[in-house]
Amino acid sequence: MVSCPVCKINMSDDGTLVLPMTEKIKIETNKLVHKGKTYFFDSTDCAREFAANPDKYAEK
Ligand SMILES: [Zn+2]
Repeated sequence: MVSCPVCKINMSDDGTLVLPMTEKIKIETNKLVHKGKTYFFDSTDCAREFAANPDKYAEK
């Protein structure tokens, strides 16, 4: 299980968005590599936000 580091929504490792009380919805996951670690985002907006402030959202 991975989660979007910006909005914290949960996704499975294959990029399926996990929503409570609903069936899994396949989405196109945005990926970004920062300092050798791959991060997954549920939206381009979150990826952009992360790219703008990587130190704020990256795992320490
Ligand atoms: Zn997000």
